Amino acid sequence: MSGGLTGRPTDAPTAPASVAGLLRDIADVGRDATRGGYSRFVYDDGETTLREWFVAEAERRSLEVETDRNGALWAWRHGTGGATGGPGGTAGPGAAVVTGSHLDSVPGGGAYDGPLGVASAFAAVDLLDARGVRSERPLAVVAFPEEEGARFGVACLGSRLLAGAITPDRARALTDADGLTFAEVAARAGLDVDRIGPDPARLAAIGAFVELHVEQGRGLVDLGEPVAVGSAILGHGRWRFSVTGQGNHAGTTLMLDRRDPMVAAAGIVLAAREVAIDHAGARATVGRVQPVPGGTNVIASRVDVWLDARHPDDAVTAAVVAEIHRRAVAVAEAEGCEVVLVEESYGGTVHFDDGLRARLTDVLPQAPVLDTGAGHDAGVLASVVPTAMLFTRNPTGVSHSPEESVEDDDAQTGAVALADVLESLLLRPQEPIVS
Ligand SMILES: [Zn+2]
Repeated sequence: MSGGLTGRPTDAPTAPASVAGLLRDIADVGRDATRGGYSRFVYDDGETTLREWFVAEAERRSLEVETDRNGALWAWRHGTGGATGGPGGTAGPGAAVVTGSHLDSVPGGGAYDGPLGVASAFAAVDLLDARGVRSERPLAVVAFPEEEGARFGVACLGSRLLAGAITPDRARALTDADGLTFAEVAARAGLDVDRIGPDPARLAAIGAFVELHVEQGRGLVDLGEPVAVGSAILGHGRWRFSVTGQGNHAGTTLMLDRRDPMVAAAGIVLAAREVAIDHAGARATVGRVQPVPGGTNVIASRVDVWLDARHPDDAVTAAVVAEIHRRAVAVAEAEGCEVVLVEESYGGTVHFDDGLRARLTDVLPQAPVLDTGAGHDAGVLASVVPTAMLFTRNPTGVSHSPEESVEDDDAQTGAVALADVLESLLLRPQEPIVS
C-alpha cells in the first residue's frame, strides 16, 4: 500500500521549495489500490515513510527535529526550541510560533488533507529564509499523529494527549482493527508509552499555533478566493430517534390499520432537511437508519434514525434538533407511533482566538473569514493555546476522498499567506503574541 519517496538531492535548497513540488515527492507514499487515493494510518508503512520525509525536509532546512512524548514531530528553526524541552530551549513562555498539521489520512483519502499543511509550513520556512526574516521567537513545524482517528478510533489523538483531553490510560488501551493496542504499536515505533500524556511546559511555550488546511467544502470556490482565515469549527453532535410502532405482516395488514415506524422515520429524514434549510448555516444529516427486525415482508416494530446536526452557534444547533424532534413527535403520532430522542454525543463550537484571528485578517485583508464543519488538531489546541487556521481553496469541494483537490498555484498562494502570517507573528516584539 505504500511506495517509497522519489529521490531528491540532499543538499540544501537554493530556492524556496514549492508546495506542489514537496507534495509530488510523497505522491507515491501510502496509495490505496483498493479504494483509490491514500490510506496512511498512524505508524503504518505509509505514515512512517511520511515521518521520514518530514525529518529529511527538516534537516534539509537545518531545522532541529524532536519527537515529543506523544509521537508528534517538531522541527525547530535555527535551533530555537523555546521553553519546550526541545532543542535550543531558551526563549520564554508564550514566545514560540508553531505551524503544521498531520500526515495520516482517512481510508481512501485525498492527497491534501494534512500533508498540505505540513508542506506549506516547510515552504513558508523557505520563504522566511529567502526574505531574511530573523527572530528571537522560536518557530516550529509540527506534524501531529492520528489526526483522523482512522487506526485507533479517536480523532486528534496526538493533540488530545498533548492538551490533556484524553487520559494516557485510555489512549494506551485503544485498539486497531487487528486488535493491537495503541501502546503496543506506539512502543514498536519507538515511543516510550509510559510517558504519553499532557505536556504543559510545551504548551506554555507556544504563543500561537496556525494550522493551514485544505478547505473541506466550497466556501472559497463560491467566493472566488484562494485562501481564507478560519473563524470556528462547528459544534456537532449525534442524536438517535427511536421510533416504535407495531411489527406486522406486510401482506395481511391493511394500509389504514398500520402503525409503521418506517413511515415516521421517513418524516424525520425530510424534517431534518427542511429544518436545517430554515436555519442559515445549519447542516442536518440522516446517514444511518436501522429498522428492527429489518425484513422485506415485515412492517418494522422499531426504527432507529441517527441525526448528525451542526451549526456555528450551539444555541442554533439545539434549536434545530428541538424543532426536528417536535416534527418527529408529530409524524410519529400521526402514524400511531412513539418516538424517543437520545443525544449520543455533542461537542460545542470552537471559536479560534479573536486576537490572533484579527492579526491574520490584518496581514491578509483580502482573505474571507470562514468556519468549517470538520474537526482539526487546531480545534483541540484552541482550548489551551491561541490558535488560528488558514484554508486553501479546494476546487472540487470534496474531501476525505480521492477527489479532494488543490491547484498548484493556490497551494503556493497559501504558503505565501502562511509565511506572511508567520513573519508578522515572529517579528512581534517579545511580549504575548495575543492578549
Ligand atoms: Zn485534516
